[in-house]
Amino acid sequence: MNIYDFQKKWRKPLFLIGVFFCLSCLFMEILIFVVPQFRMQVKCTDEQYRLRYIYLPTILNISSIVISYFLLSSKKVSQRMKNYTICFMLLFICVVIQNLHGIYASVLSLPSLAIFISAVFAENRLTYTITVISLVSTLISYFVGHHLFDENDIYIANYIIASAIVIVAYFCSNLLLRFIYSQLHTVKKGHTNEERLINKMRLDPLTGLYNRGGMDSIMDELINNYDPEHPLYLLMIDIDNFKSVNDTYGHQNGDKVLRTLAQVILDMGRKDIIPCRYGGEEVCVMFKNMDIDDAIKKSNKILSDFRNVRYDFSGDHSIAFSGGFVQYDSHYTKDEWIKKADSRLYFAKHNGKNRIISIPVEETEQII
Ligand code: GH3
Ligand code: MG
Ligand code: MG
Repeated sequence: MNIYDFQKKWRKPLFLIGVFFCLSCLFMEILIFVVPQFRMQVKCTDEQYRLRYIYLPTILNISSIVISYFLLSSKKVSQRMKNYTICFMLLFICVVIQNLHGIYASVLSLPSLAIFISAVFAENRLTYTITVISLVSTLISYFVGHHLFDENDIYIANYIIASAIVIVAYFCSNLLLRFIYSQLHTVKKGHTNEERLINKMRLDPLTGLYNRGGMDSIMDELINNYDPEHPLYLLMIDIDNFKSVNDTYGHQNGDKVLRTLAQVILDMGRKDIIPCRYGGEEVCVMFKNMDIDDAIKKSNKILSDFRNVRYDFSGDHSIAFSGGFVQYDSHYTKDEWIKKADSRLYFAKHNGKNRIISIPVEETEQII
């Protein structure tokens, strides 16, 4: 899982926490309003209470939730902006409550919540920005309490304590952030090592082509995701008279020929041409994202390039291969596809070698 998947996973629950937070604040305000013992502690008329503590925060909080919802569901907004959106939404709800109930020290330090949550997104700048806004908002809520709501029994010490809590929250989040980074780093490292190992296990050490295991899994994947709009082709190659190459020039030179064949295929490009060592001196090449003429042309080019190689150990003696070429058909199993290519290869072997057969064996009389 990369960092973006990780962050995406967290945005939805955090959004729901914001909604829950907003609803619980509304519930608490209504509770204070209807319970006489609580209501007595807030000095204002009923009309002022409804306006100041029920309508105003609800409208502000719901607006921020709606705006955030649209930003979070928009495809045009970047992942990073979405992280900012969710943190700012939570901060906004905290700031609204902080400014309305600045009289209580515990409420004053509410933005610490948004600071902690921002650490989930592992971005130092985001946590820092939220902290600065929280400190500014704590300062503003002092003036709001004093001048706007005329709260006389506010102690300046409350604001100093709240600011200190916000700063401590920042340092704690920073620690959390470092922890998240180190965890992500460890997970990523493990993942890369695992990928490297799997890839290594799928390669043939002599030629660097996919080995039989690699070929099987790639073929399964191609067949499972087969779309007739994107045809697939298979060329099965068997080097001609390879035994006599080994017998005449030695096995080490035989290996050289195998490596040369692999290089000739790899030189054709690696994106849409997938070569695998099927076994011994047999190689399977899968082609994708091209039309049949193109795939046949590329197959013949592999043959002519390979045939034209001159080896230091063999003078003018050229080495060729025979091939069977088959387009994939949606009703073929993997084995049937390979078998079809094999029977065309067999036909090429018994009709002069050094050629590729790409039409059904029953029709081959027309061309040979
Ligand atoms: P044909 O044209 O009919 O294919 O004849 P061939 O001689 O190529 O066929 P055969 O199957 O009799 O011989 C294949 C040879 O390939 C036998 C084996 O020693 C050799 N071979 C298989 N794997 C390797 C390898 O990794 N290195 C070398 N040098 N030789 C290999
Ligand atoms: Mg063979
Ligand atoms: Mg052979």
